[in-house]
Amino acid sequence: MDKRTPPFVVCAVAVFGLLAAHAQAQSSSGWINAYRDTAARLIKAATADDFAWQRLAELTDTYGNRLSGSENLGRAIAWAAETMKKDGLDNVRTEKVMVPKWTRGRESAEIVDPPRHALTILGLGGTIATPPGGLEADVLVVESFNELRMRAADAKGKIVLFNEPFTNYADTVSYRTGSARAGAQVGAVGILVRSVGPVGLRTPHTGAVQYQADLPPIPAAAISGEDANRIARLAARGRKVRIRLSLDGHSEADVESANVIGEIRGREKPDEVVVLGGHIDSWDVGAGASDDGVGCVITWEALRLMKKLGIQPRRTVRLVLWTNEENGTRGAAAYADKYASTAMNHVFALEADSGVFEPARFGFSGSLAARNVIRDITSLLSPLNLAETISGGGGADIDPIAQAGRAPTMAYMGDPTRYFTIHHTPADTVERIAPEEVAKGAAAIAVVTYVIAEMPDRLPK
Ligand SMILES: [Zn+2]
Repeated sequence: MDKRTPPFVVCAVAVFGLLAAHAQAQSSSGWINAYRDTAARLIKAATADDFAWQRLAELTDTYGNRLSGSENLGRAIAWAAETMKKDGLDNVRTEKVMVPKWTRGRESAEIVDPPRHALTILGLGGTIATPPGGLEADVLVVESFNELRMRAADAKGKIVLFNEPFTNYADTVSYRTGSARAGAQVGAVGILVRSVGPVGLRTPHTGAVQYQADLPPIPAAAISGEDANRIARLAARGRKVRIRLSLDGHSEADVESANVIGEIRGREKPDEVVVLGGHIDSWDVGAGASDDGVGCVITWEALRLMKKLGIQPRRTVRLVLWTNEENGTRGAAAYADKYASTAMNHVFALEADSGVFEPARFGFSGSLAARNVIRDITSLLSPLNLAETISGGGGADIDPIAQAGRAPTMAYMGDPTRYFTIHHTPADTVERIAPEEVAKGAAAIAVVTYVIAEMPDRLPK
């Protein structure tokens, strides 16, 4: 059976766009029928119980949040390797990665003029400490980097609040990562950023801040959207707002961590690899459930379910739980380095690092030829009622190896509004996530990776 889409369909998609894509979706190519029974078995096994949710709860309850360099992360990594062995996965191993170690310490901030108001804050990951006793300064509120440049003369000696409204993560996150650099350039003494996410329940969101070697590092923290609004309203009325900020973050020498790897060795082409996974590290608040315990669990489930059902695909299916995605992506870099000579044998890479909240979907990046095959494969997922696959797959952990091997990439993504409401906050806990959402992600990923590992020809580049 030919797994490729007939040429006339490729033409039709190009010419008639969405209309043709719709028609194609209704008549997927015949080659996929050979995989229907196994796909149905995987979906049934994944959705039969709440095993995956229970595993996620075990990870987050037993090991807690898992910042790089923490004892929690080390213990979670050891547990994952041991549990993969118990699942019967092949070639289970940990691969050493040196990671940065940053510790938050105590922190607080308040508006000191009457009425005094304690702000809900989280220091940004990697921030330096304020001087002992904290620092006190007037606030300059800006909504963009551009506005800061225009008001540069007003910024000297101030705490700059970036009150950039949240649009989407990709666009807004630059105000978290770039705020301290921009503030240092104009002589600010501290940075507050409006948390990167929709307004929640007065929840601050942490995440990494970046410093620039030729600029002085300045302390930086995120505040809740509500507190950012309050300060902005006061300033807009012409009131001076004075803030005391106290941060205690400090960095230490790099420490040893590891990527955790388990496989189902391919029965015919073991050197060809379908790689998938999530990141085992998290921020140091909440429990790292949606980011990214659940991504680890649903990709892991694909292998556990194949083992359980006695499925050994033609190619190797390799699970990697990457370390240090949040503040360094050293795990991704170490994997790409270690496997550089076999990068071209990576036929496909899938990352789950956007939660599982309904409505969930896949994103895909690759050639039109690969996209047509993926469309046929995802037609097997109709019982799961996923939202339509969109353009743009990939992820921070798989991109280095996928780019080196020119492998098509896929991401499993939950609803971004629900995900980014709790992202990097104390509210990222397992009870936010429904067992059915976890099972569905596991089922979808199991089917996609199984078919790509099993089909006679490689997924086209
Ligand atoms: Zn993540």
